[in-house]
Amino acid sequence: MSELRYDGRVAVVTGAGHGLGRRHALELAARGAKVVVNDLGGDRSGVGASAGPAQQVVEEIKKNGGEAVANPDNVATPEGAEAIVQTALDAFGKVDIVINNAGILRDKSFKNMTPEEFDAVIAVHVRGSFLVSKAAWPHLREQSYGRIVNTSSPAGLFGNFGQANYSTAKMGLVGLTKTLAHEGAKYNIKANAIAPVAWTRMTEDLLPADFADKLGVEQVTPLVAYLVHESNEDSGEVYTVGGGRIAKIFVAEGPGYGQKETLSVEDVRDNWAAINAGEPLTVYRNVGEQMGPLIQQLSS
Ligand code: NAD
Repeated sequence: MSELRYDGRVAVVTGAGHGLGRRHALELAARGAKVVVNDLGGDRSGVGASAGPAQQVVEEIKKNGGEAVANPDNVATPEGAEAIVQTALDAFGKVDIVINNAGILRDKSFKNMTPEEFDAVIAVHVRGSFLVSKAAWPHLREQSYGRIVNTSSPAGLFGNFGQANYSTAKMGLVGLTKTLAHEGAKYNIKANAIAPVAWTRMTEDLLPADFADKLGVEQVTPLVAYLVHESNEDSGEVYTVGGGRIAKIFVAEGPGYGQKETLSVEDVRDNWAAINAGEPLTVYRNVGEQMGPLIQQLSS
């Protein structure tokens, strides 16, 4: 089989100064893409700023014979997001691929979490992905081509102790991804999300140390690279990935319970088992499809 290449493509990778984003940037550049390496350069909680990490990754790419430019802006501000996309336009004339990967942690139990800690995490993950995608969107639409990957998390999909802010943000990205997939369909813009597990500075004190070697960032990048390749036709999907394993995550609905008469609280109690039934599960592609069983019931 032929190698997947990205020659002629321009990619923006946010938070690419460390960890997963760095690996995504290196891989795409090694396969021919021109890359904007964005990173604000703060610590794990988003405090501080430095142009160093993005610049170092750019130097690494260039040393390997690739093409890249650094951008040190903040994804969470409209000016920062615009500047990130403008860096791609100025350096390479266009943008084809957006990988929203920048992220921070401010873990606290829900009882102790402050509104500031909540807002700071939502700002980088959700607002940042919204803003950078939005800055790129007119260009993707105009050229009828785009590939977007948003970085969700198992913590968002399934909840995690001490991460009310982070899990809200990461599930929010699933909604954003699915809507971008709908709105981008007409313009050949595909948007997907990943829920990775990898050993980085973000997780080194959270994941079991025994598996550090097997949870390398290089085990996540192949999925991301595939999703942003022109040959990928899938959109609006979410995949968990790490340690060599990839699986699709489904948002699915059970068979449910319905009755013609107005529901009472007792009806809910008496039909609780049917309401909670897990089989058969249906995966809907849009809200219209999801309304199907209700419309059928209302029309019968
Ligand atoms: P990391 O800390 O190594 O990388 C995150 C990068 O984002 C850092 O380089 C940081 O400087 C940058 N960044 C932070 N705020 C920014 C901002 N406002 N603007 C621009 N850049 C900013 O961590 P990582 O593990 O590589 O995380 C990458 C992404 O993957 C994050 O979104 C994270 O939430 C997600 N994720 C990681 C794991 C994992 O197991 N490592 C699991 C689930 C999700």
